[in-house]
Amino acid sequence: MRALTTSDPEVAALIRHEEERLAATIDLIAAENHPLPGIFEALGSAFAVKAAEGYPAARYHAGCAHADALEDLAIRRCCALFGAEHANVQPHSGVAANWAVYFAALNPGDRVLAMRLSHGGHLSHGAAASVTSRCFQFEHYGLDPDSETIDYDAISDLAARTRPRMLVAGASAYPRLIDYARLAEIAAGVSALFMVDMAHIAGLVAAGVIPSPLPHADYVTFTTYKTLGGGRGGVILCREKYRSAIDRSVFPGCQGTPAVNMIAAKAVCFNLAAQPDFRTRQEQTVANARYLGDALTERDYRLVAGGTDNHLVLIDLRPRGISGEHAENALAAAGLFANRNPLPFENTHPNRSGGLRLGTPAITSRGMGKPEVELIADWIDQLLRQPDDPAVRRSVQSGVAELTRDFPLPC
Ligand SMILES: *Cc1c(COP(=O)(O)O)cnc(C)c1O
Repeated sequence: MRALTTSDPEVAALIRHEEERLAATIDLIAAENHPLPGIFEALGSAFAVKAAEGYPAARYHAGCAHADALEDLAIRRCCALFGAEHANVQPHSGVAANWAVYFAALNPGDRVLAMRLSHGGHLSHGAAASVTSRCFQFEHYGLDPDSETIDYDAISDLAARTRPRMLVAGASAYPRLIDYARLAEIAAGVSALFMVDMAHIAGLVAAGVIPSPLPHADYVTFTTYKTLGGGRGGVILCREKYRSAIDRSVFPGCQGTPAVNMIAAKAVCFNLAAQPDFRTRQEQTVANARYLGDALTERDYRLVAGGTDNHLVLIDLRPRGISGEHAENALAAAGLFANRNPLPFENTHPNRSGGLRLGTPAITSRGMGKPEVELIADWIDQLLRQPDDPAVRRSVQSGVAELTRDFPLPC
């Protein structure tokens, strides 16, 4: 960072502090990951300069030969990785990808069914705080109160009653698999379009360790920085017949110039995600989440939906008498980062909820496995039993320092 240290020592110092924080702490935030090798270089590359409105061979700026080759490569790799008919790799983020699908497929005011935020859904699926709820008429479905898994019969009833134009599946805090075939059937039964937002699980899907929504969905959106480990950005996959509507909706509909450096990072990610060691890593991510869930269950914690099939566990802390926020803060003070999360059927503000969400993508990318996960579960238990005890905090802190020295950041 020679130039930055001279031009802006203040920001350079903050970047160094952030690098140190990442290296010396344990990231259990389910939405985060340590990027694959080469991602930072692609993001900080010469492609950050290029203005490239439009698409390969149809740009509104000159000098796009290499940007065109890059975007074609990213699209080709992405389609091959997921078995998609078409990919748009320009969305700046997951939410931007969702917007572009909504505006390609719907008219303002159309009815859409999506998973309720408090049951694991996402803000951009029509939550009251999101402008998506002002543009379209969202109806929300949720979980069965006993199993805490998606209540497909209730969705079927809701679809029959409300006749939506689109059914949206996908979640940010749902630890179980989603039955895409069943949802596609429900959508087809009312002539609705079917969109799947696989932001959290795209890496697991790419590696084939959990089922893919691709054969069933009209549109699939995702972010590249979560399980996929490809840096921040969004992608839309769709059937060939929707290609031109999707491309026009992204540009010029919703965005201007694409971030060509982000497209470079996406191309790198799609290539690495097709390699055998990526598959091994994603299998380990799922195994680690199961080890974490088992270790916490043994220590008497209640897991929402009784466990996990993917990269995350959601703990119900209410029986333990500690709020999600208190738990998050107690863990953070010892160098373990996770986040408080609403629980299904709990009608309270996220800041007062009793949920804590833990994910394994980042620790798995550092090479951690079962022994380390069991150590971490034990630390979490100690901290949650005595959240304000400085001696417990200090002892966990020194364990975290030792463990993170043994498992340096992948890059
Ligand atoms: C994380 C997430 C997003 C948001 O992606 P951004 O890149 O933050 O815009 C969208 N949908 C779901 C289901 C998510 O989990």
